[in-house]
Amino acid sequence: MREPMRYTMRMMRATARYTISLLLFAGGVWTFTLRIPVWSLLLGVPAIQVGIMLLIVSFDQAAERTAGLKQYHIVSCEVCGNPTAAPIGETHEKCPDCRAKTR
Ligand SMILES: [Zn+2]
Repeated sequence: MREPMRYTMRMMRATARYTISLLLFAGGVWTFTLRIPVWSLLLGVPAIQVGIMLLIVSFDQAAERTAGLKQYHIVSCEVCGNPTAAPIGETHEKCPDCRAKTR
């Protein structure tokens, strides 16, 4: 698939995900405020919780994609041994503290 098309599809999917989770959250709040005995609690509270969870998952996926975390993995610093991020395929890496000390 061509790159602009893939970008458009990804943006449409992200927009749908945000819209669904916000609608679920708003619908849950609306159902909760109707004060229908039993049903407000039975339908409103789970809808609010699922809406919040979907929002968190959506933001987490967006942040992961923006930060490019799939291009990095955790290795031990070759100087102090603390865990640090290194590009995939790189096994020896200095942590930012050790890099600053050697300058
Ligand atoms: Zn280090």
